[in-house]
Amino acid sequence: MNKPPVASLSGTNLEFARSHNRRVVMEAIRLHGRLTRADIARLTALTPQTISNIASELQKLGFLNALTPERGTRGQPATPFVINPDGAYSIGLQIDQNMMVAVVVDLSGRIRGRCTLAVDHPTPAQALPLVRDVVETLRKSSDADWSRVLGLGLAVPGPFDVEGLSAVGPTALPGWQDLSIAQQIGDAIGLPVIMENDATAAAIGERLHGVARTFRSFTYLFIGTGLGAGMFHDGHLYKGSGHNAGEIGHMIVVPDGRQCPCGNRGCLERYVSLQAAYEALEIGDLAHATPQMLLDPSPAARARLDGWLDEAAQRLRQAVNILESMLDAEAVVIGGFLPSSVLALLIERLEPLHTSVAARRNRQTPRVIAGLAGHDTAALGAAALPIFDELNPNLGVLLKADAHG
Ligand SMILES: [Zn+2]
Repeated sequence: MNKPPVASLSGTNLEFARSHNRRVVMEAIRLHGRLTRADIARLTALTPQTISNIASELQKLGFLNALTPERGTRGQPATPFVINPDGAYSIGLQIDQNMMVAVVVDLSGRIRGRCTLAVDHPTPAQALPLVRDVVETLRKSSDADWSRVLGLGLAVPGPFDVEGLSAVGPTALPGWQDLSIAQQIGDAIGLPVIMENDATAAAIGERLHGVARTFRSFTYLFIGTGLGAGMFHDGHLYKGSGHNAGEIGHMIVVPDGRQCPCGNRGCLERYVSLQAAYEALEIGDLAHATPQMLLDPSPAARARLDGWLDEAAQRLRQAVNILESMLDAEAVVIGGFLPSSVLALLIERLEPLHTSVAARRNRQTPRVIAGLAGHDTAALGAAALPIFDELNPNLGVLLKADAHG
């Protein structure tokens, strides 16, 4: 039942509305797992005719599968729709100071191929041939239909285009702060490339696949070599005027505190970051330090880790207080490259949290939640970028109340 072309309406607006409604339907099914047309109508306020058209279209595109019809309590048997994992794929690439992690995921978010490469503070020019190799390795080793790859999401440490903060210190990755790099990489690999800072990419990953699936507003703290935050407000990513919202690593939490390479003293990431943990553990060769070194079971190393956790928790507690007070989000999610056991210890030590507006009586979830941990986090989030771009609607329209308000 395809709708005939409507020549009398403006093509641009009509196409915009169509693609928007397509995203709304995909997002509803993605969030709920399986939905009939009637379920979708109930959730989205779209008309049954519109939903029928979109569902057929998405089925033809291969994004949706129709299951065997179910007999309901009354009326015709209803066909449930589910996401077709093989409908599309996406590549996520995370580049940091020491490592390149690439994954290919399917439309359901499952990892279908993975490739890692040790690097040493690569410039974009040095990374370009490596990226080409990594993508080629993924293509050969995964079972994904490469003609259905939507694009590549690239996650790198921010901030972008800022004087003074971008290219200094061990938590920076010089040369990557120019957003036009995405175009160069795209030309090299022949796929669209979307670039984001690693914290924002990981926040999207949590929103699509992780603990933040049901949150409309949440703050995400990404503990990488440095520290950054990603923010969702009312279903939308909040990026800031220069793509740098959430660059809280250089927020001063200890006046006259530890010297930071940025020139300030007492920046948050001098206390809460892998770099700070490595320094506390007195790891000599910082260029080759890995998160697994934090799991060193020797008594001396454990005592140092303990000392770091105590101090980091104290500073992080203050940051959580600021973020809760400013953003009034549903929760603060903390993830990144810390080993999950270490992340759990850090979150445990945040208690008791400072009193803030987040201490609501009717809370359904804890104020601070552990997100995905481990080195795939940002790559998985980056892989979500092309899919997110393709599928994510203004989530507000998923709720009738909002659509009418
Ligand atoms: Zn600083």
